[in-house]
Amino acid sequence: MSRREWQDIFEEVTGELVEDYGDDWIIEFDDTIEAYKPARDWYQYIRGAFARFRCSKCGKTWPSRRVLVVFHFRLSRKSRRGTVKFRPFRQECRTCRDAEMEKPKFAPDNIEALLQKVEERIRVRCYRENWDDGHVPLRPVGRSEGPHEAAHCEACRRGVCRQSE
Ligand SMILES: [Zn+2]
Ligand SMILES: [Zn+2]
Repeated sequence: MSRREWQDIFEEVTGELVEDYGDDWIIEFDDTIEAYKPARDWYQYIRGAFARFRCSKCGKTWPSRRVLVVFHFRLSRKSRRGTVKFRPFRQECRTCRDAEMEKPKFAPDNIEALLQKVEERIRVRCYRENWDDGHVPLRPVGRSEGPHEAAHCEACRRGVCRQSE
C-alpha cells in the first residue's frame, strides 16, 4: 500500500470540495484508530473493499473482497482544515505458521471508489449537504474465490468485520 498513492487520489477526489468550500483537506494513514470508536467530534465511514495481500514469508498472494477500511474524519472550522484518517485492516497467510499480518494492496480504481464515498460523506456530515446514499452502490473491482478467512482477518479477530456488512 502506497500512502503517496492514497494522498494523490484523495487530492483529485476532493478537488471540487475544496473549491466549493475553501477548506483544506488532508488524508493520513493511522493504524491506531478503532472501528466504531471515533474520537469526539470525529465522524466515521467504514466499509469492506477489494484488495490483495502477499505473505512476506512464503510469497503467496491472495485476493479478498472484504478488506475492512475505517475512515475517521473531521473538519476544524477554526483552522479551516479537514482531516481524514484511514486504517485498512490486515490479513495473514493461512498456510504459514506464525504468519505475519500483512497490509492490503488496493488497485487505484478501488482507492478512488472508496475515497469518492468518503468525499460524499464529508459533504453530508461536515457541510450538511443532502445526498441520497442509496443510489451509488460501490462495486468492488475484481474477484476473489473462496470464503472469507475469518481466523486470518484482523478485523474479524477484533469483532468488527461482520458489522460492516
Ligand atoms: Zn505464507
Ligand atoms: Zn474479516
